[in-house]
Order: sequence, then structure tokens, then C-alpha cells
Amino acid sequence: MKLKKITQANLQGKTAIVRMDYNVPLDNGIIKDDTRIKESLPTIKYLIEQGAKIILMSHLGRPKGEIDEKLRLDPIAKRLAELIGKPVIKVDKCVGKDVDKAISSLGFGNILMLENTRFHKEEKENNKEFAKKLASYADLYISDAFGTVHRAHASTEGIAHYLPAYAGFLMDKEVTALSPLLGEVEKPFILLLGGAKIDTKIGVIKTYIKKADKILLGGGLANTFVYAKGFNVGASLCEKDKMELAQELMMEAEESGCEIVTPGGAVVADEIGDNVITADIEITGVEGNMQMLDIGVKSTNKYIEILQNAGTIIWNGPMGLYEKTPFENGTKQIAQALTQVKGKTYIGGGDTLDALKKFNIDKSLFTHVSTGGGAMLEFLEGKELPGLKVLEA
Ligand code: ADP
Ligand code: MG
Repeated sequence: MKLKKITQANLQGKTAIVRMDYNVPLDNGIIKDDTRIKESLPTIKYLIEQGAKIILMSHLGRPKGEIDEKLRLDPIAKRLAELIGKPVIKVDKCVGKDVDKAISSLGFGNILMLENTRFHKEEKENNKEFAKKLASYADLYISDAFGTVHRAHASTEGIAHYLPAYAGFLMDKEVTALSPLLGEVEKPFILLLGGAKIDTKIGVIKTYIKKADKILLGGGLANTFVYAKGFNVGASLCEKDKMELAQELMMEAEESGCEIVTPGGAVVADEIGDNVITADIEITGVEGNMQMLDIGVKSTNKYIEILQNAGTIIWNGPMGLYEKTPFENGTKQIAQALTQVKGKTYIGGGDTLDALKKFNIDKSLFTHVSTGGGAMLEFLEGKELPGLKVLEA
């Protein structure tokens, strides 16, 4: 895939509107991992050097098309200003009088950040008028939001129909690093999938059944499969309405010779906290108020053994509620083991990256660490992605 690159754009004296992926993990308004902000710096610095006016856009979290005070981009603007050593002007909207005013007084090399794009329901609807309005602020569009290319939203896809569109440096880096995986991959090919976004990740499994030799499941995602196998999941995070889908996927996998592995044991607790009582039990023992919050030690070791013999590994999604110490072990042990394996390792996802940071894992020990989670998985499925299609040369 060939992209139109930022280096091919004439930026001098122009206004660039840039879609970033600043959907960083937050804890009470504090940025837990700023990888995505740091990774956006080369593009911003280049735009400054080229003498462009810079308007940044991003979504954060899932605010459902309305204002959510906890999901304003102010902490991100603040962190970006620290990292880039320049003021970042932040407005509280994406459109309207205040935005118009801020843009009209913006100087060359200055940075303006719009509010969370998902405060507008038009964003996810890919509303044409909204996209056109955003486009009207600038002379060209740049996308560096690799983490959102699987979504056709107004700020990721719609806007590109009204402006010349180019890929930023991060976008280019991601596509270049991941593209070799679209050809023949070294076998055994293992997908390690965890985390909590069951609705978005479960679909991905369908394609990987045909590609991967094994799919290892952990995190909240695995609970739905454990439930679909007929086990009691107690009070665990589990999407019971996805049970049939999970059953279908397991049947399809069997027919295609791909093994879907679910944890045989779990670390359970009745409540979530840093000092709660836990037990590492067999899946058959889960009941009542118990929540499965990490894969057990036995499963962790089994997964590590499989990963050690793999040729290619894709990992997205923590194996448990790694934010709390009693439930970090599975994610931690596996992350550490992945630094030592002989196969190629591709890792992505906001929380997965946060976990690597929490456990002080040297990211240079992996083949590629992607800023995208769902986007990485869908890119590697070989799908045509709307946010990338608009950047094609
Ligand atoms: P990523 O951002 O890496 O794609 P997700 O957003 O899908 O990952 O999921 C990460 C979240 O899943 C974390 O907040 C983690 O605490 C949560 N999680 C993982 N396992 C469980 C579990 N068993 N029960 C509840 N939450 C879980
Ligand atoms: Mg996440």
C-alpha cells in the first residue's frame, strides 16, 4: 500500500488540520501512558518547521455523542505542550464561534487543539456537514491516527473528501512496520487476545481462525468463551449475548484446524482492589460473586510455552485487570516472556502498551509496538480500512 506522505505536501503558509490518536488510557484525569502523544511529535515538529498553522483533532474514550466532562482533551493539550515545549491552545468545542475566533488569531507554527471529536454525534455518523465544517478550517488534512483507521468517522474519513489528504510520520511508520505481515508469515502463527472490548474484538477472531495456528484468549474477552463452553462465570465481565457467536467461532476454528485456547483457571476475587483476597482456582470452581480477573498461573505458563515455540505472535489486550496488583501476574509474566521469544512479536493496544510501561518492559525487544489495538488487528486481517483508503497515493 502506497500512501500520500506529509513530505509530499506543500505546507509553507498553509493551515493543516491533523487527526491524531490521543485516545490515551486515563485514570481519574491523569494520563497513564503517553506513548500516543509522544509518537505524534515528529509530525507536529515537521509542521512547525515547515511554517504551517496546526489544528489538532482527536477522540478520547467513548462519550456517546455528548459532552462528558471527564473526557475533555485538556490533560492531553497540557501534556503535549510539555513534550513539545510550545503552548497548545485548547478550545472547548470542535465547531462554533470560539473555534472560528481561535483559528483566525492562530499564527504560523502555532498549535490549536479542538475538543474531543466524539462529543459530537456527527463524528461517528460520519456526517458530511460536520466533516465539511472541519475541512473548512484548513488547506490540507493530515492523518497520524493509525489507531482509528478502521473507523469511517467524520474526522478520520469524511473530512478527507473535502481536502487533499496525507499520512503523517506515525501513520507511515505503522503501515511500513506492519505490512510485511500481510504476506507469508513465519509459523506457528499465534494470536494472543485479551482485554475488555469484547464487542470490537470478537469479530476479529473470525478472520484469524483462517490465518492463525492458535488463538490464545485472556482477559474479559476469554470469559465470554468460557461461558459459551458451559462454565459458570460468576459475576465476571462477560457478554452473555455474544455466547452464540463465541460458540460458532469455536466450531469454525475446529473445522479450520485453528485451536482457540481458553484459560483453564483464573484468579478470582469478590471485589476489585489493591488489597483484596484472591484465589487461583480451576475454571470449574467459579460461582456466585466471584469475578475472574486474571488468567491463573497454570494457564500463564501454558501460554508462555506455546509462545516460546511460535514463529509470529500478535498480541492485543491484557490478560487480566493488570491495573491492580493482585490481577497483574498473567499480563506481566507473558509480557516479560515475549521479550525473550525467538519469533517475531507485534504488540498493540492502548492498555496493552500501558501494561508494558507499568512493568518496565523495554519495548525495543519486540519486533513492532503499534499504537493501534483494533486498528492493528484489522489492518493485519488484510481488510481495506476507510481511514487508510483516503490516504492512498
Ligand atoms: P487495549 O486497550 O490494549 O486494546 P482493552 O481496552 O480491550 O485493551 O482492555 C483493557 C482493559 O481490560 C483493562 O482496563 C483491563 O483492566 C481490562 N480487563 C482485562 N481483563 C479483565 C477481566 N478479566 N475482567 C475485567 N476487566 C478486565
Ligand atoms: Mg483500551
